[in-house]
Amino acid sequence: MNTAFIALGSNLDSPIQQIQSALKSLHTLGDVTGISSWYQSEAIGPTQQDFLNGAVRLETPLPPLELLEALQQIEWDHHRKRITRWGPRSLDLDILLFNALSYYSKRLEIPHPRTTERAFVLLPLLDIDETLSLPGGEKISSFLPKVAYQSLNRLDSINDYR
Ligand code: AMP
Repeated sequence: MNTAFIALGSNLDSPIQQIQSALKSLHTLGDVTGISSWYQSEAIGPTQQDFLNGAVRLETPLPPLELLEALQQIEWDHHRKRITRWGPRSLDLDILLFNALSYYSKRLEIPHPRTTERAFVLLPLLDIDETLSLPGGEKISSFLPKVAYQSLNRLDSINDYR
């Protein structure tokens, strides 16, 4: 079994439903053994609705590229629109961490290059496991000061997203 951390994000087409439906789909890829709090974050880039963000830990038999393909299939099943980079999206699923793997190819980079740069990724990861480290051993929590300026609201419930 592999342990993967997956980021979920949506700011289009009823984000709460998108995320809840994506969670159901993720259960078909393995065991979801951790779910973060949910967060509302200001979008980066063109003016658009806030994002609903979170992360899960998935124990899965799938190797990395097969997991990526399965996640992309789920994105397409949710009618993901790729109109502009940084633009609104109905569903975004990213592999943040995969075991202690460091991997780089055109299609897949692990850890995801934005893992340590975004509060909406770091906080959900730490909700699930506050001791998490990068493959090189650096604590995920050590990156928090660098993102302290980023605006992010922890929601009491996913239903509080507006
Ligand atoms: P984005 O539009 O930001 O979701 O980027 C999607 C593209 O990023 C896809 O074409 C993937 O092949 C590529 N990609 C590279 N590394 C990852 C990763 N760790 N998780 C998900 N997609 C990735």
